[in-house]
Amino acid sequence: MVGRFGFSSAIAFDAQHLQPLATWAFLATLTEAVFIEGHRADDAIPHALGHSNRLGPHSGVYLITLSPTTSETQKIVNVTKYIWSHRDYRPWGTTLPVQCRECGTPQQWAGMKCSDNYTFECRYEFCGWDPVCQEFVKPRGTYVVEKPEGMQVIPNGKLPSSSWLRFCLPAKVIEADSEDLAMELD
Ligand SMILES: [Zn+2]
Repeated sequence: MVGRFGFSSAIAFDAQHLQPLATWAFLATLTEAVFIEGHRADDAIPHALGHSNRLGPHSGVYLITLSPTTSETQKIVNVTKYIWSHRDYRPWGTTLPVQCRECGTPQQWAGMKCSDNYTFECRYEFCGWDPVCQEFVKPRGTYVVEKPEGMQVIPNGKLPSSSWLRFCLPAKVIEADSEDLAMELD
């Protein structure tokens, strides 16, 4: 859509049921920074996200921009994904499972950070216990979240337990006059 209509950039959200109320502080700050103060959108977004604590748990943000190529008909689409992370329940932007995969117990995960990876361990004291054998037959359930390659922490609005992250998706070359420019974000 960005290429079809010739927009220089566009913003998208990935919440399944987007609540506009959660976006207004971000959009108001971004609009002021871009249209009044004259900043580039990719420079203004980290600033705007730093003022948007309510948006992070609700939705990720995509910035879609076009870059020229040497071809008149082709352009490069750059997509930057911004996701919110929390040390205890959304490490590196990954939502933790509700239950332990080993014992099925609903979890309030207890995490440990080692280097760039988080390891969460089931808190149920009998995780792995076999009531027939009357002994532990499996190791305690764990869930490991590794830092995705290329993920950057945004300093704006960073708190001890949470922050926004930036991740650049692979660029795509599109035909600028093509009728089929709809993009699939993943
Ligand atoms: Zn368990």
